[in-house]
Amino acid sequence: MAYDDQNIFARILRGEIPNKTVAETKHTLAFHDIAPHAPHHVLVIPKGAYVDFADFAANASAEEMTDFHRTAAGICAGFGDGYRVISNSGAHGGQEVPHYHLHILAGRPLGPMLTR
Ligand code: AMP
Repeated sequence: MAYDDQNIFARILRGEIPNKTVAETKHTLAFHDIAPHAPHHVLVIPKGAYVDFADFAANASAEEMTDFHRTAAGICAGFGDGYRVISNSGAHGGQEVPHYHLHILAGRPLGPMLTR
């Protein structure tokens, strides 16, 4: 899928839409999800234009990937009772925003991974 630079996270990265920032580095932005599914729901996005996990893993530089994962890991490390990391892709994955992101969820028992 080609990257759509009008997606909402691209607009957040350009400063066109506000966000509640949790962490920001050279290559990564983390911010609170606008419609949280748990007491803590943080989105972590690369600043580069990547559609999903596979695009990021295949095409990002080693520096971007290290920066992204260390930033996400730093947030996860703050959730001593545990957390869940999710990344959706495409129609079957239920992806709404076509800019790669991790959801970090924490703050209560999160239940089964998926409804069977
Ligand atoms: P996904 O379905 O994996 O693409 O997740 C997209 C997430 O982005 C959803 O959990 C939305 O609540 C969240 N979201 C959409 N718009 C915003 C926004 N302006 N600020 C923060 N989170 C947003």
